[in-house]
Amino acid sequence: MIEMIDVIKAYPGGVRALDGVDLHIGAGELVAVVGPSGSGKSTVLNLIGTLDRPTSGTVRIDGLDVAALSDRRLAALRATRIGFVFQQFHLAAGTSALDNVADGLLYRDVRRAERRRLAAEALERVGLGHRLRHDPHELSGGERQRVAIARAVVGRPPLLLADEPTGALDSHSGDGVMELLGELNESGTTVVIITHDREIAASLPRQIRMRDGRVLTGEVVR
Ligand code: ADP
Repeated sequence: MIEMIDVIKAYPGGVRALDGVDLHIGAGELVAVVGPSGSGKSTVLNLIGTLDRPTSGTVRIDGLDVAALSDRRLAALRATRIGFVFQQFHLAAGTSALDNVADGLLYRDVRRAERRRLAAEALERVGLGHRLRHDPHELSGGERQRVAIARAVVGRPPLLLADEPTGALDSHSGDGVMELLGELNESGTTVVIITHDREIAASLPRQIRMRDGRVLTGEVVR
């Protein structure tokens, strides 16, 4: 599903956010990316999410070499194959949960009525079938993150990327969100999660540990 070969990401001024990363994540895996602040975790996630391109090296997502794709093809790859979840939810205010999720299909060739039907289904799947008309500000943090997850998976992408998805939540809501991500993984979605939370990382089948722009060898696989 994800292959990175000798990937370097350098910024002007000589900072190497990634300094030769080799990484393979298979379809159906559930993986934590851990490491100190500044170690390159977000850079890895952005490259996997095709939001950014490497300075050198190869990034393949679902068999496609990111370097060989135009910006338009990359946008299409993102829209159809990758879902994103962020710490701060990024939901539109003044827009119902249903329409927030339906907007996850805006870049797909799906009519509005069908988008809303699929959105309702996705909200059912995350346990929010009773909150379709609620505005984000009428929902708890945990519920907001469930809406964001529903939006990320409404198009049934094979890959879900989450950057600190429980970082803004109390531990109870965080556990619920992790349970949900685990269920999505069991239904076949490949899930990659950046987390600072050691307990969460330890609960996942595989941990990729980063330091100074590199993946540490001896990663933990349970
Ligand atoms: P993490 O997610 O582990 O905290 P990042 O991937 O965000 O780490 O950053 C890795 C390194 O790259 C850091 O040293 C950071 O300062 C640097 N970096 C990230 N983005 C930029 C940028 N746009 N310009 C310059 N340096 C950057």
